[in-house]
Amino acid sequence: MSESDTHIVIKTTETDNVGIIVHSGGLKKGDRIKNGIQLRENIPMGHKVALQNIGEGEKIIRYGQPIGFANQLISAGEWVNSSKITTPEPPDLKSIPLPETSVPELNPLEGYTFLGFRNQDGSVGTKNVLGITTSVQCVAGFTQFVVKKIKQEILPKYPNVDDVVALNHSHGCGVAINVPAAVIPIRTIQNISTNPNFGGEVLIIGLGCEKLRPESLLLANGTTADTSVTPEISNIMMMQDDAFSGFSAMAEGIIQMAETRLKKLNRHKREICPASELVVGMQCGGSDAFSGITSNPAAGFAADLIVRAGGSVLFSEVTEVRDAVHLLVPRAINAEVGNALINEMKWYDDYLMLGQADRTANPAPGNKTGGLSNIVEKALGSVAKSGTSPIVDVLGPGEKIRRKGLIFAATPASDFICGTLQLAAGMNMHVFMTGRGTPYGLPMVPVIKVGSNSKLSARWFDIIDLDAGQIATGEKTIEEMGWELFKMILEVASGKKTVACDKLGLHNDLVLFNPGPVT
Ligand code: CA
Repeated sequence: MSESDTHIVIKTTETDNVGIIVHSGGLKKGDRIKNGIQLRENIPMGHKVALQNIGEGEKIIRYGQPIGFANQLISAGEWVNSSKITTPEPPDLKSIPLPETSVPELNPLEGYTFLGFRNQDGSVGTKNVLGITTSVQCVAGFTQFVVKKIKQEILPKYPNVDDVVALNHSHGCGVAINVPAAVIPIRTIQNISTNPNFGGEVLIIGLGCEKLRPESLLLANGTTADTSVTPEISNIMMMQDDAFSGFSAMAEGIIQMAETRLKKLNRHKREICPASELVVGMQCGGSDAFSGITSNPAAGFAADLIVRAGGSVLFSEVTEVRDAVHLLVPRAINAEVGNALINEMKWYDDYLMLGQADRTANPAPGNKTGGLSNIVEKALGSVAKSGTSPIVDVLGPGEKIRRKGLIFAATPASDFICGTLQLAAGMNMHVFMTGRGTPYGLPMVPVIKVGSNSKLSARWFDIIDLDAGQIATGEKTIEEMGWELFKMILEVASGKKTVACDKLGLHNDLVLFNPGPVT
């Protein structure tokens, strides 16, 4: 970071030839910045200013990396926006060298704990929630009805249970169920029901005639039940069951089943657990040019602290790491993990090509208004939230974590799809960085919202939990903000602090990633 005589602009490395305007109202033509450069036009907050003359065809450097090429002469003091930049080709997956030596581990961090709910399978929850999942969308209205009734009439009797949540989704019937791609939505639904915050007590509501058999939800990792499977049916209620005559009987049936589980869940008490039991899903949405210099590096610093404490961090969003993957592969713990990372990128390249989608569809219009010119700039800022520790594993979409440490969990960048897949992976805490602002939240797992700039954090004072914009203004360092986030994660995981989206009841739906055909 370097300061100007009059107005601050931010450079991330010495080699950057563009800087980010920090002033909350933007700067005006004639304003002076670093080295006496005078702005040649008005430039909004978060946008880039040329710090030197950049000739046509020359590289535009941010984060010490080329984010594109000037398609015209850009003079010092000019606004550098997407109309002046040609986006480079993504890194060639075939030419990225695999790691040969192992990446050094970070120094261990000891003594940090939180108060969690320890489950029989050894996992630890940060909330004590009764989840009611479904085998098909047909029953969504019924599930909503019973969840509302349980919350109003029965839940108050069980003070140690935080919530009852319907795990409705769009899958289960009217979809090709035995095609290879169906493994993704199926394992996602299966693995979500084993999320640590449900304490192993999930109920299933099925219809009866759907393709996805309710009993297969008791299996794992995309396995579909056939007739030879003996289901553990005490967790399943089928609406078409002959035993039920009329709606009230069905509702009464599931409410009785729910009460049995609520009694069990109510016995769960918070106990001291090491920070190594945290599984933190990192995500960003509605990013701006500040995200990559404030909130994401602070999240990356916190990610390192969690990994050093023996815990797990998931980072995701394939389309947002694709253009920076050449920087991530060398951080894989071995060639096998490096290769898995490349394979997830390859799978997504093919998936996008099949749909004739262009990677330039990301950034979203709001990202561009916030100063992000293209996907390369977004990616370089996005990977900052992975910190610096070795990548120990790579998960396919909807897979569950297998080991502790920093893990790449492949997901689309879509906020709710990424969140849904990170839930399936087993996250018990979610950290969400935003620059433009989004009310995103999930009812199953606490979502800490980190604002990338102080202007948003002030305007959305009751929706944002932490203002990382203080890094841009020089009030806090990345390290200080990273520690603050780490401590907030422990406090929220302990149930001592309620996040803004839970206070306000701002919760998104589960949204499955279904790359398979709909029939
Ligand atoms: Ca996202």
